[in-house]
Amino acid sequence: MAEGDTTAIDIDVAAIEAKYAEEREKRLRADANDQYVELRSVDGLNVDPYADPDFARAPISENVDVLIVGGGFAGILAACRLRERGVTDIRIVEKGGDFGGAWYWNRYPGAACDVESYIYLPMLEETGYIPTERYAKASEIFAYARRLAEHHDLYAGALFQTEVQSARWDESRDRWIISTSRGDAIAARFLISCAGLLTNAKLPGIPGIENFEGHSFHTSRWDYGYTGGDQTGNLTGLSDKRVGIIGTGSTAIQAIPVIARYAKELCVFQRTPSAVEVRDNRPTDWNWVRSLKPGWQKERIENFTDATTGVPVAVDLVNDAWTDVARIFLGSADGKPVDPEDLHLSGLRKMERIRQRVASTVKNPTTAEALKPYYYYMCKRPCFHDEYLDAYNRPNVTLVDTEGRGVERITAKGAVVAGREYPLDCLIYATGFDWLAQYDRHSGIQVNGIGGVSLGTHWADGARTLFGMQTRGFPNFFLMSLIQAGTSFNYFHGADEQVKHIAYVVASCLERGASWVQPTKQAEDGWVDEIMASAGPRRAFLEACTPGYYNFEGRRDRANELNDFYGGAPTEYLKQLVDWRAAGELPGLELG
Ligand code: NDP
Repeated sequence: MAEGDTTAIDIDVAAIEAKYAEEREKRLRADANDQYVELRSVDGLNVDPYADPDFARAPISENVDVLIVGGGFAGILAACRLRERGVTDIRIVEKGGDFGGAWYWNRYPGAACDVESYIYLPMLEETGYIPTERYAKASEIFAYARRLAEHHDLYAGALFQTEVQSARWDESRDRWIISTSRGDAIAARFLISCAGLLTNAKLPGIPGIENFEGHSFHTSRWDYGYTGGDQTGNLTGLSDKRVGIIGTGSTAIQAIPVIARYAKELCVFQRTPSAVEVRDNRPTDWNWVRSLKPGWQKERIENFTDATTGVPVAVDLVNDAWTDVARIFLGSADGKPVDPEDLHLSGLRKMERIRQRVASTVKNPTTAEALKPYYYYMCKRPCFHDEYLDAYNRPNVTLVDTEGRGVERITAKGAVVAGREYPLDCLIYATGFDWLAQYDRHSGIQVNGIGGVSLGTHWADGARTLFGMQTRGFPNFFLMSLIQAGTSFNYFHGADEQVKHIAYVVASCLERGASWVQPTKQAEDGWVDEIMASAGPRRAFLEACTPGYYNFEGRRDRANELNDFYGGAPTEYLKQLVDWRAAGELPGLELG
Protein backbone atom coordinates (compact mmCIF):
# COMPACT_ATOMS: atom_id res chain seq x y z
CA MET A 1 0.00 0.00 0.00
CA ALA A 2 1.42 3.43 -0.98
CA GLU A 3 2.04 5.90 1.89
CA GLY A 4 -0.97 8.03 0.90
CA ASP A 5 -3.25 5.07 0.18
CA THR A 6 -5.45 4.38 3.18
CA THR A 7 -8.28 2.52 1.45
CA ALA A 8 -7.43 -0.83 3.05
CA ILE A 9 -7.61 0.52 6.60
CA ASP A 10 -10.53 -0.91 8.56
CA ILE A 11 -12.44 1.55 10.70
CA ASP A 12 -15.48 1.43 12.97
CA VAL A 13 -17.02 4.77 11.99
CA ALA A 14 -19.56 4.97 14.83
CA ALA A 15 -16.99 4.11 17.50
CA ILE A 16 -14.46 6.61 16.13
CA GLU A 17 -16.98 9.43 15.90
CA ALA A 18 -18.19 8.76 19.44
CA LYS A 19 -14.57 8.91 20.65
CA TYR A 20 -13.97 12.18 18.75
CA ALA A 21 -17.04 13.75 20.36
CA GLU A 22 -15.96 12.56 23.82
CA GLU A 23 -12.42 13.94 23.37
CA ARG A 24 -13.82 17.24 22.11
CA GLU A 25 -16.09 17.56 25.17
CA LYS A 26 -13.09 17.09 27.51
CA ARG A 27 -11.36 20.09 25.95
CA LEU A 28 -14.18 22.59 25.50
CA ARG A 29 -13.76 25.53 27.87
CA ALA A 30 -16.12 28.39 28.50
CA ASP A 31 -13.24 30.87 28.41
CA ALA A 32 -12.23 29.82 24.83
CA ASN A 33 -9.54 32.27 23.61
CA ASP A 34 -9.62 34.16 26.91
CA GLN A 35 -7.76 31.26 28.54
CA TYR A 36 -4.51 32.69 27.12
CA VAL A 37 -2.45 35.62 28.29
CA GLU A 38 -0.07 37.69 26.25
CA LEU A 39 3.67 37.09 26.53
CA ARG A 40 4.14 40.77 27.30
CA SER A 41 1.96 40.40 30.41
CA VAL A 42 4.53 38.27 32.26
CA ASP A 43 7.71 40.01 33.44
CA GLY A 44 10.94 39.03 31.76
CA LEU A 45 9.46 36.77 29.07
CA ASN A 46 8.88 39.27 26.26
CA VAL A 47 12.54 39.98 25.62
CA ASP A 48 14.36 39.86 22.30
CA PRO A 49 17.28 37.51 23.01
CA TYR A 50 18.75 38.05 19.54
CA ALA A 51 19.01 41.84 19.37
CA ASP A 52 21.67 44.18 20.74
CA PRO A 53 20.41 45.20 24.21
CA ASP A 54 22.54 48.37 24.13
CA PHE A 55 21.22 49.60 20.80
CA ALA A 56 20.37 53.30 20.88
CA ARG A 57 19.64 55.99 18.29
CA ALA A 58 18.19 59.48 18.22
CA PRO A 59 14.47 59.79 17.40
CA ILE A 60 13.69 60.78 13.85
CA SER A 61 11.05 63.08 12.45
CA GLU A 62 10.26 62.71 8.76
CA ASN A 63 7.71 62.60 5.94
CA VAL A 64 7.55 59.55 3.69
CA ASP A 65 5.24 58.24 1.01
CA VAL A 66 4.85 54.81 2.56
CA LEU A 67 5.51 53.40 5.99
CA ILE A 68 5.52 49.61 6.23
CA VAL A 69 5.11 48.07 9.67
CA GLY A 70 7.09 44.84 9.84
CA GLY A 71 10.17 43.49 8.08
CA GLY A 72 9.05 39.90 7.65
CA PHE A 73 8.61 38.41 4.20
CA ALA A 74 5.32 40.26 3.68
CA GLY A 75 6.95 43.62 4.50
CA ILE A 76 9.91 42.84 2.25
CA LEU A 77 7.62 41.80 -0.60
CA ALA A 78 5.46 44.90 -0.12
CA ALA A 79 8.53 47.12 -0.51
CA CYS A 80 9.65 45.18 -3.62
CA ARG A 81 6.24 45.37 -5.28
CA LEU A 82 5.90 49.09 -4.52
CA ARG A 83 9.30 49.74 -6.06
CA GLU A 84 8.27 47.86 -9.18
CA ARG A 85 5.43 50.37 -9.49
CA GLY A 86 7.77 53.32 -9.06
CA VAL A 87 6.96 54.05 -5.39
CA THR A 88 10.36 54.37 -3.76
CA ASP A 89 10.02 56.65 -0.73
CA ILE A 90 9.50 53.82 1.75
CA ARG A 91 10.31 53.43 5.44
CA ILE A 92 10.16 49.98 7.07
CA VAL A 93 9.79 49.83 10.85
CA GLU A 94 10.59 46.50 12.48
CA LYS A 95 10.42 45.40 16.11
CA GLY A 96 13.21 42.82 15.78
CA GLY A 97 16.88 43.47 15.15
CA ASP A 98 16.78 42.41 11.48
CA PHE A 99 14.51 41.38 8.62
CA GLY A 100 12.88 37.94 8.82
CA GLY A 101 9.68 38.29 10.85
CA ALA A 102 8.47 34.90 12.12
CA TRP A 103 11.83 33.47 10.99
CA TYR A 104 13.72 36.10 12.95
CA TRP A 105 11.89 35.13 16.13
CA ASN A 106 11.47 31.38 15.74
CA ARG A 107 15.00 30.09 16.16
CA TYR A 108 14.20 27.21 18.47
CA PRO A 109 16.26 24.04 17.91
CA GLY A 110 14.87 21.94 15.09
CA ALA A 111 12.85 24.83 13.59
CA ALA A 112 12.05 24.26 9.93
CA CYS A 113 9.37 24.98 7.41
CA ASP A 114 7.03 22.21 6.46
CA VAL A 115 6.07 23.78 3.12
CA GLU A 116 8.45 22.89 0.28
CA SER A 117 11.25 25.48 0.18
CA TYR A 118 11.19 25.80 -3.63
CA ILE A 119 7.71 27.30 -3.45
CA TYR A 120 7.87 28.84 0.03
CA LEU A 121 10.85 31.17 -0.41
CA PRO A 122 9.70 34.00 -2.67
CA MET A 123 11.56 35.38 -5.68
CA LEU A 124 14.10 32.55 -5.98
CA GLU A 125 14.60 33.23 -9.68
CA GLU A 126 15.18 36.95 -9.08
CA THR A 127 17.78 36.33 -6.37
CA GLY A 128 19.35 33.32 -8.10
CA TYR A 129 19.12 31.26 -4.92
CA ILE A 130 18.22 27.59 -4.56
CA PRO A 131 17.49 26.23 -1.08
CA THR A 132 19.77 23.43 0.05
CA GLU A 133 17.02 21.01 1.00
CA ARG A 134 13.40 20.32 0.23
CA TYR A 135 12.09 21.51 3.61
CA ALA A 136 14.43 24.29 4.67
CA LYS A 137 15.58 24.87 8.22
CA ALA A 138 14.67 28.14 9.92
CA SER A 139 18.27 29.42 9.79
CA GLU A 140 18.32 29.11 5.99
CA ILE A 141 14.96 30.86 5.68
CA PHE A 142 16.08 33.68 7.97
CA ALA A 143 19.31 34.06 5.95
CA TYR A 144 17.22 34.19 2.77
CA ALA A 145 15.01 36.97 4.17
CA ARG A 146 18.17 39.02 4.73
CA ARG A 147 19.46 38.13 1.28
CA LEU A 148 16.18 39.26 -0.29
CA ALA A 149 16.26 42.53 1.66
CA GLU A 150 19.86 43.13 0.59
CA HIS A 151 19.12 42.21 -3.01
CA HIS A 152 16.41 44.90 -3.05
CA ASP A 153 18.51 47.34 -1.07
CA LEU A 154 16.01 47.63 1.77
CA TYR A 155 18.40 47.95 4.72
CA ALA A 156 18.94 51.68 4.23
CA GLY A 157 15.23 52.38 4.69
CA ALA A 158 14.72 50.16 7.74
CA LEU A 159 14.44 51.09 11.40
CA PHE A 160 15.10 48.01 13.54
CA GLN A 161 14.42 47.40 17.22
CA THR A 162 11.63 49.91 16.88
CA GLU A 163 7.96 49.25 17.60
CA VAL A 164 5.19 51.24 16.01
CA GLN A 165 2.93 52.15 18.90
CA SER A 166 0.24 54.28 17.33
CA ALA A 167 -0.94 55.57 13.99
CA ARG A 168 -3.42 58.43 13.76
CA TRP A 169 -4.99 59.74 10.55
CA ASP A 170 -4.55 63.53 10.37
CA GLU A 171 -7.46 64.73 8.26
CA SER A 172 -6.03 68.22 7.91
CA ARG A 173 -2.91 66.88 6.16
CA ASP A 174 -4.16 63.56 4.74
CA ARG A 175 -1.28 61.85 6.45
CA TRP A 176 -0.82 59.05 8.96
CA ILE A 177 1.06 60.29 12.02
CA ILE A 178 3.02 57.39 13.39
CA SER A 179 4.77 57.21 16.74
CA THR A 180 7.24 54.56 17.81
CA SER A 181 8.88 53.13 20.91
CA ARG A 182 12.02 55.18 20.10
CA GLY A 183 10.25 58.52 20.05
CA ASP A 184 10.06 58.82 16.25
CA ALA A 185 7.36 60.99 14.68
CA ILE A 186 6.79 59.92 11.08
CA ALA A 187 4.17 61.32 8.72
CA ALA A 188 3.25 58.90 5.94
CA ARG A 189 0.80 59.19 3.05
CA PHE A 190 0.23 55.44 3.12
CA LEU A 191 0.48 53.00 5.98
CA ILE A 192 0.87 49.29 5.24
CA SER A 193 0.70 46.92 8.16
CA CYS A 194 2.66 43.73 7.62
CA ALA A 195 2.79 43.03 11.34
CA GLY A 196 2.66 39.28 10.80
CA LEU A 197 0.43 36.32 11.58
CA LEU A 198 2.51 34.64 14.24
CA THR A 199 3.53 37.85 15.93
CA ASN A 200 1.97 37.96 19.31
CA ALA A 201 3.26 35.01 21.31
CA LYS A 202 0.81 33.74 23.88
CA LEU A 203 1.04 31.90 27.17
CA PRO A 204 -1.49 29.63 28.79
CA GLY A 205 -3.25 31.44 31.63
CA ILE A 206 -2.11 28.75 34.09
CA PRO A 207 -2.28 29.95 37.71
CA GLY A 208 1.17 30.56 39.19
CA ILE A 209 3.20 31.21 36.01
CA GLU A 210 4.82 34.23 37.62
CA ASN A 211 5.88 32.19 40.68
CA PHE A 212 8.18 29.77 38.84
CA GLU A 213 11.72 30.18 40.22
CA GLY A 214 13.49 28.18 37.53
CA HIS A 215 14.30 29.49 34.08
CA SER A 216 11.54 29.88 31.51
CA PHE A 217 11.01 31.23 28.02
CA HIS A 218 8.69 30.97 25.01
CA THR A 219 9.93 29.01 21.99
CA SER A 220 9.92 32.22 19.90
CA ARG A 221 12.41 33.74 22.35
CA TRP A 222 14.79 30.79 22.65
CA ASP A 223 17.49 31.43 25.24
CA TYR A 224 20.64 29.86 23.80
CA GLY A 225 22.62 31.67 26.51
CA TYR A 226 20.98 29.24 28.94
CA THR A 227 20.62 26.08 26.83
CA GLY A 228 23.88 26.42 24.90
CA GLY A 229 24.12 25.24 21.29
CA ASP A 230 22.19 26.43 18.29
CA GLN A 231 19.33 25.39 16.04
CA THR A 232 21.10 22.18 15.08
CA GLY A 233 21.60 21.02 18.67
CA ASN A 234 24.54 20.98 21.11
CA LEU A 235 22.25 22.17 23.90
CA THR A 236 24.94 21.28 26.43
CA GLY A 237 23.55 23.71 29.01
CA LEU A 238 20.64 21.30 29.50
CA SER A 239 22.75 18.23 30.30
CA ASP A 240 22.16 18.59 34.06
CA LYS A 241 18.66 20.11 33.82
CA ARG A 242 15.12 18.84 34.32
CA VAL A 243 13.32 20.49 31.43
CA GLY A 244 9.57 20.81 30.97
CA ILE A 245 7.85 21.85 27.75
CA ILE A 246 4.18 22.86 27.60
CA GLY A 247 2.51 22.29 24.26
CA THR A 248 2.67 19.65 21.53
CA GLY A 249 1.80 21.70 18.42
CA SER A 250 3.85 22.24 15.24
CA THR A 251 6.61 24.04 17.13
CA ALA A 252 6.96 21.54 19.96
CA ILE A 253 7.10 18.50 17.72
CA GLN A 254 10.14 20.02 15.95
CA ALA A 255 11.89 21.12 19.17
CA ILE A 256 11.23 18.05 21.37
CA PRO A 257 13.48 15.57 19.51
CA VAL A 258 16.42 17.99 19.80
CA ILE A 259 15.83 18.87 23.47
CA ALA A 260 15.43 15.16 24.23
CA ARG A 261 18.96 14.49 22.95
CA TYR A 262 20.54 16.91 25.45
CA ALA A 263 18.35 17.35 28.56
CA LYS A 264 19.00 15.26 31.65
CA GLU A 265 15.22 14.80 31.86
CA LEU A 266 12.46 16.08 29.62
CA CYS A 267 8.79 16.22 30.67
CA VAL A 268 6.38 16.97 27.84
CA PHE A 269 3.08 18.37 29.12
CA GLN A 270 0.46 17.46 26.55
CA ARG A 271 -3.13 18.67 26.31
CA THR A 272 -3.99 17.45 22.79
CA PRO A 273 -1.70 15.26 20.69
CA SER A 274 -0.76 16.44 17.20
CA ALA A 275 -1.38 14.36 14.10
CA VAL A 276 2.20 13.65 13.06
CA GLU A 277 2.78 12.43 9.54
CA VAL A 278 5.89 11.35 7.63
CA ARG A 279 8.36 14.16 6.75
CA ASP A 280 10.70 12.60 4.21
CA ASN A 281 13.06 15.56 3.81
CA ARG A 282 15.95 15.36 1.37
CA PRO A 283 18.80 17.48 0.05
CA THR A 284 18.20 19.43 -3.14
CA ASP A 285 18.77 17.41 -6.28
CA TRP A 286 21.08 19.57 -8.37
CA ASN A 287 20.28 17.62 -11.53
CA TRP A 288 16.66 18.62 -11.06
CA VAL A 289 17.76 22.24 -10.50
CA ARG A 290 19.75 22.19 -13.77
CA SER A 291 16.62 21.02 -15.58
CA LEU A 292 14.53 24.03 -14.47
CA LYS A 293 13.41 26.51 -17.12
CA PRO A 294 12.84 30.24 -16.55
CA GLY A 295 9.44 30.83 -14.97
CA TRP A 296 9.63 27.52 -13.09
CA GLN A 297 8.96 28.98 -9.65
CA LYS A 298 5.77 30.83 -10.57
CA GLU A 299 4.50 27.69 -12.30
CA ARG A 300 5.35 25.51 -9.29
CA ILE A 301 3.79 27.95 -6.79
CA GLU A 302 0.56 28.20 -8.78
CA ASN A 303 0.46 24.47 -9.38
CA PHE A 304 0.73 23.84 -5.62
CA THR A 305 -2.04 26.30 -4.77
CA ASP A 306 -4.26 24.76 -7.45
CA ALA A 307 -3.50 21.21 -6.31
CA THR A 308 -4.20 22.06 -2.67
CA THR A 309 -7.40 23.88 -3.54
CA GLY A 310 -9.11 21.20 -5.60
CA VAL A 311 -8.37 22.87 -8.95
CA PRO A 312 -7.47 20.13 -11.46
CA VAL A 313 -3.76 19.99 -12.34
CA ALA A 314 -2.29 17.91 -15.17
CA VAL A 315 0.79 17.12 -13.04
CA ASP A 316 1.10 17.59 -9.29
CA LEU A 317 4.57 19.19 -9.38
CA VAL A 318 5.19 19.34 -5.62
CA ASN A 319 3.39 16.09 -4.87
CA ASP A 320 4.04 16.02 -1.14
CA ALA A 321 2.15 15.58 2.11
CA TRP A 322 0.26 18.88 1.60
CA THR A 323 -1.04 17.97 -1.82
CA ASP A 324 -1.96 14.63 -0.27
CA VAL A 325 -3.82 16.54 2.47
CA ALA A 326 -5.86 18.22 -0.25
CA ARG A 327 -6.63 14.95 -1.98
CA ILE A 328 -8.05 13.59 1.26
CA PHE A 329 -9.74 16.77 2.38
CA LEU A 330 -11.00 18.15 -0.93
CA GLY A 331 -11.03 15.22 -3.28
CA SER A 332 -8.97 14.11 -6.24
CA ALA A 333 -6.87 16.65 -8.12
CA ASP A 334 -8.30 15.55 -11.48
CA GLY A 335 -11.46 17.62 -11.00
CA LYS A 336 -13.87 14.65 -11.01
CA PRO A 337 -16.77 15.12 -8.57
CA VAL A 338 -16.14 13.38 -5.26
CA ASP A 339 -18.81 11.98 -2.97
CA PRO A 340 -18.58 13.94 0.34
CA GLU A 341 -19.18 10.69 2.25
CA ASP A 342 -16.11 9.15 0.57
CA LEU A 343 -14.05 12.16 1.56
CA HIS A 344 -15.30 11.89 5.11
CA LEU A 345 -14.28 8.23 5.24
CA SER A 346 -10.85 8.90 3.75
CA GLY A 347 -10.29 11.55 6.45
CA LEU A 348 -11.21 9.04 9.15
CA ARG A 349 -8.88 6.45 7.62
CA LYS A 350 -6.05 8.97 7.34
CA MET A 351 -6.29 9.68 11.08
CA GLU A 352 -6.34 5.95 11.76
CA ARG A 353 -3.13 5.62 9.73
CA ILE A 354 -1.59 8.38 11.83
CA ARG A 355 -2.59 6.53 15.02
CA GLN A 356 -1.14 3.30 13.62
CA ARG A 357 2.16 5.10 13.07
CA VAL A 358 2.16 6.09 16.76
CA ALA A 359 1.47 2.50 17.84
CA SER A 360 4.22 1.06 15.66
CA THR A 361 6.82 3.64 16.75
CA VAL A 362 6.28 4.27 20.47
CA LYS A 363 7.25 1.25 22.58
CA ASN A 364 5.43 2.06 25.83
CA PRO A 365 1.75 1.23 25.14
CA THR A 366 0.37 3.77 27.65
CA THR A 367 2.49 6.55 26.15
CA ALA A 368 1.54 5.44 22.64
CA GLU A 369 -2.17 5.51 23.46
CA ALA A 370 -1.86 9.03 24.90
CA LEU A 371 -0.06 10.24 21.75
CA LYS A 372 -2.88 9.14 19.44
CA PRO A 373 -4.94 12.06 18.11
CA TYR A 374 -8.70 11.58 18.20
CA TYR A 375 -10.27 14.34 16.12
CA TYR A 376 -11.23 14.89 12.50
CA TYR A 377 -8.47 15.31 9.97
CA MET A 378 -7.59 19.03 9.58
CA CYS A 379 -9.27 20.11 12.84
CA LYS A 380 -5.72 21.04 13.76
CA ARG A 381 -2.77 21.84 11.57
CA PRO A 382 -1.17 18.56 10.47
CA CYS A 383 2.46 18.08 11.51
CA PHE A 384 5.24 16.22 9.73
CA HIS A 385 8.23 14.73 11.52
CA ASP A 386 10.32 11.57 11.41
CA GLU A 387 11.97 11.73 14.87
CA TYR A 388 9.25 13.16 17.10
CA LEU A 389 7.47 9.95 18.07
CA ASP A 390 10.71 8.05 18.55
CA ALA A 391 11.84 10.66 21.13
CA TYR A 392 9.38 9.05 23.57
CA ASN A 393 11.41 5.82 23.44
CA ARG A 394 14.28 7.57 25.21
CA PRO A 395 14.60 6.82 28.93
CA ASN A 396 15.00 10.53 29.80
CA VAL A 397 11.69 11.58 28.18
CA THR A 398 8.33 11.44 30.00
CA LEU A 399 5.01 12.27 28.43
CA VAL A 400 2.74 13.89 31.01
CA ASP A 401 -0.66 13.57 29.43
CA THR A 402 -3.08 16.02 31.00
CA GLU A 403 -6.05 14.25 29.35
CA GLY A 404 -7.25 17.40 27.69
CA ARG A 405 -7.23 19.53 30.82
CA GLY A 406 -3.82 21.19 30.49
CA VAL A 407 -1.34 21.97 33.23
CA GLU A 408 -3.22 22.66 36.45
CA ARG A 409 -0.82 24.97 38.24
CA ILE A 410 2.73 26.21 38.17
CA THR A 411 4.61 26.43 41.44
CA ALA A 412 7.99 27.88 42.39
CA LYS A 413 9.54 24.47 41.70
CA GLY A 414 7.66 22.99 38.76
CA ALA A 415 4.34 22.14 37.09
CA VAL A 416 1.36 20.35 38.61
CA VAL A 417 -0.83 17.87 36.76
CA ALA A 418 -3.58 15.82 38.44
CA GLY A 419 -2.28 16.94 41.83
CA ARG A 420 1.29 15.74 41.20
CA GLU A 421 4.14 18.23 41.06
CA TYR A 422 6.84 17.64 38.42
CA PRO A 423 10.01 19.39 39.62
CA LEU A 424 11.72 21.42 36.86
CA ASP A 425 14.79 23.60 36.37
CA CYS A 426 13.58 24.99 33.07
CA LEU A 427 10.08 25.43 31.66
CA ILE A 428 9.61 26.10 27.96
CA TYR A 429 6.34 27.43 26.58
CA ALA A 430 5.56 26.03 23.10
CA THR A 431 2.08 27.50 23.40
CA GLY A 432 1.78 29.37 20.12
CA PHE A 433 0.54 32.74 19.03
CA ASP A 434 -2.57 34.88 18.95
CA TRP A 435 -4.45 33.90 15.81
CA LEU A 436 -6.55 36.40 13.85
CA ALA A 437 -7.39 38.29 17.01
CA GLN A 438 -8.47 41.91 16.92
CA TYR A 439 -5.81 43.79 14.96
CA ASP A 440 -4.83 46.26 17.70
CA ARG A 441 -4.36 43.52 20.29
CA HIS A 442 -2.49 41.35 17.82
CA SER A 443 -0.11 44.01 16.58
CA GLY A 444 0.12 46.16 19.70
CA ILE A 445 -0.60 49.21 17.51
CA GLN A 446 -3.34 51.70 18.32
CA VAL A 447 -4.80 52.77 14.96
CA ASN A 448 -7.20 55.73 14.82
CA GLY A 449 -8.86 56.74 11.56
CA ILE A 450 -11.25 59.50 10.50
CA GLY A 451 -12.74 61.34 13.50
CA GLY A 452 -10.29 59.57 15.82
CA VAL A 453 -12.32 56.34 15.67
CA SER A 454 -10.17 53.38 16.66
CA LEU A 455 -9.93 50.26 14.55
CA GLY A 456 -10.98 48.30 17.63
CA THR A 457 -14.24 50.28 17.74
CA HIS A 458 -14.84 49.99 13.99
CA TRP A 459 -14.34 46.23 14.27
CA ALA A 460 -16.04 45.72 17.64
CA ASP A 461 -18.54 43.28 16.13
CA GLY A 462 -15.97 41.65 13.86
CA ALA A 463 -13.68 42.86 11.06
CA ARG A 464 -15.05 44.89 8.13
CA THR A 465 -12.86 45.16 5.06
CA LEU A 466 -12.63 45.07 1.31
CA PHE A 467 -10.60 41.96 0.34
CA GLY A 468 -9.18 41.88 3.87
CA MET A 469 -6.85 44.74 3.02
CA GLN A 470 -8.69 48.06 3.34
CA THR A 471 -11.30 49.29 5.76
CA ARG A 472 -13.64 52.26 5.54
CA GLY A 473 -12.86 55.23 7.76
CA PHE A 474 -9.13 54.41 7.63
CA PRO A 475 -7.97 56.01 4.37
CA ASN A 476 -4.63 54.97 2.87
CA PHE A 477 -4.35 52.17 5.43
CA PHE A 478 -3.62 48.67 4.15
CA LEU A 479 -3.57 45.53 6.17
CA MET A 480 -1.67 42.31 5.48
CA SER A 481 -3.11 39.57 7.60
CA LEU A 482 -5.33 36.57 7.07
CA ILE A 483 -8.38 38.41 8.34
CA GLN A 484 -10.95 38.22 5.51
CA ALA A 485 -8.21 37.35 3.00
CA GLY A 486 -7.72 34.15 1.02
CA THR A 487 -4.91 31.86 2.03
CA SER A 488 -3.16 28.77 0.76
CA PHE A 489 -1.01 26.32 2.72
CA ASN A 490 1.84 28.26 1.11
CA TYR A 491 1.14 31.58 2.83
CA PHE A 492 3.67 33.62 0.82
CA HIS A 493 1.89 32.91 -2.45
CA GLY A 494 -1.23 34.74 -1.26
CA ALA A 495 0.84 37.36 0.55
CA ASP A 496 2.78 38.25 -2.60
CA GLU A 497 -0.44 38.57 -4.60
CA GLN A 498 -1.93 40.77 -1.86
CA VAL A 499 1.02 43.14 -1.76
CA LYS A 500 0.97 43.38 -5.56
CA HIS A 501 -2.64 44.48 -5.16
CA ILE A 502 -1.77 47.03 -2.49
CA ALA A 503 1.09 48.39 -4.62
CA TYR A 504 -1.33 48.75 -7.52
CA VAL A 505 -3.84 50.74 -5.42
CA VAL A 506 -1.12 52.97 -3.93
CA ALA A 507 0.45 53.66 -7.34
CA SER A 508 -2.98 54.31 -8.93
CA CYS A 509 -3.79 56.79 -6.20
CA LEU A 510 -0.49 58.63 -6.69
CA GLU A 511 -0.86 58.61 -10.50
CA ARG A 512 -4.32 60.14 -10.21
CA GLY A 513 -3.09 62.81 -7.81
CA ALA A 514 -5.53 61.59 -5.14
CA SER A 515 -4.73 62.34 -1.51
CA TRP A 516 -6.62 59.43 -0.09
CA VAL A 517 -8.39 56.19 -0.94
CA GLN A 518 -10.81 54.06 1.07
CA PRO A 519 -13.49 51.47 0.32
CA THR A 520 -17.08 52.61 -0.18
CA LYS A 521 -19.60 51.44 2.39
CA GLN A 522 -21.29 49.34 -0.26
CA ALA A 523 -18.06 47.57 -1.22
CA GLU A 524 -17.17 46.90 2.42
CA ASP A 525 -20.67 45.58 3.17
CA GLY A 526 -20.45 43.39 0.08
CA TRP A 527 -17.17 41.82 1.22
CA VAL A 528 -18.49 41.26 4.74
CA ASP A 529 -21.47 39.42 3.22
CA GLU A 530 -19.13 37.35 1.08
CA ILE A 531 -17.02 36.43 4.11
CA MET A 532 -20.10 35.25 6.02
CA ALA A 533 -21.32 33.29 3.00
CA SER A 534 -17.91 31.67 2.48
CA ALA A 535 -17.75 30.73 6.18
CA GLY A 536 -20.95 28.67 5.86
CA PRO A 537 -19.62 25.45 4.35
CA ARG A 538 -16.85 25.09 6.98
CA ARG A 539 -19.09 25.95 9.93
CA ALA A 540 -20.46 22.46 10.68
CA PHE A 541 -17.04 20.86 10.26
CA LEU A 542 -15.31 23.31 12.62
CA GLU A 543 -18.09 23.05 15.18
CA ALA A 544 -17.47 19.31 15.40
CA CYS A 545 -13.72 19.86 15.87
CA THR A 546 -11.73 19.61 19.04
CA PRO A 547 -10.92 23.16 20.23
CA GLY A 548 -7.91 24.85 18.70
CA TYR A 549 -7.02 28.08 16.99
CA TYR A 550 -8.71 26.98 13.73
CA ASN A 551 -12.13 27.14 15.43
CA PHE A 552 -11.34 29.94 17.88
CA GLU A 553 -11.06 27.38 20.69
CA GLY A 554 -14.57 26.15 20.01
CA ARG A 555 -16.28 29.53 20.03
CA ARG A 556 -17.16 30.41 16.45
CA ASP A 557 -19.58 33.30 16.78
CA ARG A 558 -20.29 35.90 14.08
CA ALA A 559 -17.48 38.21 15.21
CA ASN A 560 -14.96 35.36 15.07
CA GLU A 561 -16.18 34.29 11.65
CA LEU A 562 -15.66 37.85 10.45
CA ASN A 563 -12.12 37.80 11.85
CA ASP A 564 -11.40 34.54 10.05
CA PHE A 565 -9.89 34.12 6.61
CA TYR A 566 -11.93 34.02 3.40
CA GLY A 567 -13.59 30.62 3.45
CA GLY A 568 -13.68 30.01 -0.31
CA ALA A 569 -10.80 28.59 -2.33
CA PRO A 570 -7.66 30.78 -2.29
CA THR A 571 -7.60 30.55 -6.08
CA GLU A 572 -11.06 32.21 -6.17
CA TYR A 573 -9.83 34.97 -3.88
CA LEU A 574 -6.68 35.57 -5.95
CA LYS A 575 -8.74 35.61 -9.15
CA GLN A 576 -11.02 38.26 -7.66
CA LEU A 577 -7.98 40.49 -7.04
CA VAL A 578 -6.69 40.01 -10.59
CA ASP A 579 -10.14 40.63 -12.11
CA TRP A 580 -10.62 43.71 -9.96
CA ARG A 581 -7.34 45.22 -11.16
CA ALA A 582 -8.16 44.32 -14.76
CA ALA A 583 -11.38 46.33 -14.44
CA GLY A 584 -9.05 49.34 -14.17
CA GLU A 585 -11.46 51.77 -12.54
CA LEU A 586 -10.78 50.94 -8.89
CA PRO A 587 -14.35 49.70 -8.36
CA GLY A 588 -15.61 50.00 -4.79
CA LEU A 589 -12.97 52.55 -3.82
CA GLU A 590 -13.57 56.21 -3.04
CA LEU A 591 -10.76 58.67 -3.80
CA GLY A 592 -10.39 62.23 -2.63
P1 NDP B 1 0.03 25.92 18.57
O1 NDP B 1 -0.98 26.93 18.92
O2 NDP B 1 -0.15 25.11 17.36
O3 NDP B 1 0.24 24.90 19.76
C1 NDP B 1 0.18 25.31 21.10
C2 NDP B 1 0.27 24.11 21.98
O4 NDP B 1 0.17 24.51 23.34
C3 NDP B 1 -0.87 23.12 21.73
O5 NDP B 1 -0.36 21.83 21.80
C4 NDP B 1 -1.81 23.42 22.90
O6 NDP B 1 -2.65 22.36 23.24
C5 NDP B 1 -0.78 23.68 23.99
N1 NDP B 1 -1.35 24.32 25.16
C6 NDP B 1 -2.00 25.52 25.22
N2 NDP B 1 -2.42 25.76 26.47
C7 NDP B 1 -2.03 24.71 27.23
C8 NDP B 1 -2.18 24.37 28.58
N3 NDP B 1 -2.85 25.18 29.43
N4 NDP B 1 -1.63 23.21 29.03
C9 NDP B 1 -0.99 22.40 28.17
N5 NDP B 1 -0.84 22.64 26.86
C10 NDP B 1 -1.35 23.79 26.39
O7 NDP B 1 1.44 26.71 18.53
P2 NDP B 1 2.78 26.34 17.74
O8 NDP B 1 3.80 27.35 18.14
O9 NDP B 1 3.11 24.91 17.89
O10 NDP B 1 2.39 26.56 16.24
C11 NDP B 1 1.78 27.79 15.84
C12 NDP B 1 1.74 27.86 14.34
O11 NDP B 1 3.03 28.16 13.86
C13 NDP B 1 1.41 26.58 13.62
O12 NDP B 1 0.09 26.25 13.62
C14 NDP B 1 1.91 26.87 12.26
O13 NDP B 1 0.99 27.65 11.56
C15 NDP B 1 3.17 27.65 12.58
N6 NDP B 1 4.34 26.79 12.50
C16 NDP B 1 4.70 26.45 11.25
C17 NDP B 1 5.75 25.63 11.06
C18 NDP B 1 6.08 25.29 9.67
O14 NDP B 1 6.69 24.29 9.45
N7 NDP B 1 5.72 26.08 8.65
C19 NDP B 1 6.54 25.08 12.17
C20 NDP B 1 6.08 25.53 13.46
C21 NDP B 1 5.01 26.35 13.60
P3 NDP B 1 -4.11 22.21 22.54
O15 NDP B 1 -3.85 21.60 21.20
O16 NDP B 1 -4.87 21.36 23.47
O17 NDP B 1 -4.69 23.59 22.44
